[in-house]
Amino acid sequence: MIPMVDLKTQYANLKDDIDRGVQEVLESCAFILGPNVKAFEAETAAYLGVKHTIGCASGTDALHLVLRAAGVGEGDEVITSAFTFIATAEAIRYVGAKPVFVDIDPRTFNIGPAAIEAAITAKTKAVMPVHLFGQPADMAGIAALCERHGLLLIEDCAQSFGATIGGKQTGAFGIGAGFSFFPSKNLGAYGDGGLVTTASDEVAAKVKMLRNHGSEVRYYHDAIGYNSRLDEIQAAILRVKLRHIEEFNLGRRRAAHLYSELMADLPVETPHEDGIGVHVYHQYTLLSDRRDALMQALQQEQIACAIYYPVPLHQQNVFKADCAELSLPVTEAVAARCLSLPIYPELGEADIRRIVAVIRAALDG
Ligand SMILES: *Cc1c(COP(=O)(O)O)cnc(C)c1O
Repeated sequence: MIPMVDLKTQYANLKDDIDRGVQEVLESCAFILGPNVKAFEAETAAYLGVKHTIGCASGTDALHLVLRAAGVGEGDEVITSAFTFIATAEAIRYVGAKPVFVDIDPRTFNIGPAAIEAAITAKTKAVMPVHLFGQPADMAGIAALCERHGLLLIEDCAQSFGATIGGKQTGAFGIGAGFSFFPSKNLGAYGDGGLVTTASDEVAAKVKMLRNHGSEVRYYHDAIGYNSRLDEIQAAILRVKLRHIEEFNLGRRRAAHLYSELMADLPVETPHEDGIGVHVYHQYTLLSDRRDALMQALQQEQIACAIYYPVPLHQQNVFKADCAELSLPVTEAVAARCLSLPIYPELGEADIRRIVAVIRAALDG
């Protein structure tokens, strides 16, 4: 069996350090907002090159908290992608704003400046690009557009920890961003976790207050907040993994490049790299008109594969009524043809060759 992601091998490789980190938390009995969260926030701020980072309970919460702290709310429109995980749009709805979905680029699967600009109205307050599958969106273009129109730029970095553009990390381009540490993400915890990044002192202070019951000083409450803290055990685990994130992402890139090289002569569209951003391959996603045949062949050989995402957000039951008139032809075509293959830093060359051989045989047959 080749899984989509192999967390067991990664744990085996890091076991001593992770076990020690967890053990130290257990012995200290400091479980909430203790030294590990503080240290992890400092370490991620340094790694990502941002002024502030604030740990929280999940990536979904990170997006929610940063939108709220940045002042997005009732009656506002937020331009985003429909080709993403539901959490992107959920966070927008949590603050009372409306997600406005625009079409994606057929090669990068990300939204870009032209489509965003065409969707701007008097109600547009923010733009939330998603660096989907680890591929950075066109941040130079999107940031310039936001600047020109006075819009807030908030990045969904759930899939892009460590991805860069011109040496600058995703999560460092706008007023703020949300990262996820869901176990299968490029930097994954052993449970849920998330992180807000922001360049703004004001947004940082607000997120800190909101994640902890609207409180800066214990038992003094300035707002209705949330219980959304990153816990110490997760922070201790993430601190160990953060030290390896560069090698993890390099391993993903190496695996992805071998896949693409081996499939260069096949009638499938392998992931595009735009030459500007550094793709960190949270997913390796190809396009094929014969997706179902490929899936069947892979499953028969005990090779995992998955469709991210089968139904774009504007066609989901929850948003259908709001989006009745909306047609996003590229998003819909990509959702109908996309297939994600196993990818993780430890994925070996022999496995990649075997997976491609199965795909080749299925396409020949
Ligand atoms: C995983 C993910 C989220 C949500 O993160 P959680 O930690 O699972 O809450 C948000 N957006 C995207 C694009 C994601 O992939």
